Amino acid sequence: MEGSRVGLSTIYRALSDLVNDGDLDVFIDNDGESRFRLCGSHHHHHLLCRKCGKSVEFQAPEAEALAERLGASEGFSEMEHRLEIIGTCQECV
Ligand SMILES: [Zn+2]
Ligand SMILES: [Zn+2]
Ligand SMILES: [Zn+2]
Repeated sequence: MEGSRVGLSTIYRALSDLVNDGDLDVFIDNDGESRFRLCGSHHHHHLLCRKCGKSVEFQAPEAEALAERLGASEGFSEMEHRLEIIGTCQECV
């Protein structure tokens, strides 16, 4: 990888633009590293396998309702949230 170093900050900036556009999800893996994943633009959540990194997208109306209720109870508006469930997938047990 010598000789072709693009500034990391440039890459991160481009990536975070994508995240803001909703094309890319960012999440923190077990090692505390930021990881990026291309995702559908509709709102959804993730199930992540801690061993192989597989992710499953899901939607959870209960989580939407809970987030709204908790936020509203603290007087928050224009809320966003992320929900990730991390576990071990069937293939990795
Ligand atoms: Zn996703
Ligand atoms: Zn797995
Ligand atoms: Zn949600």
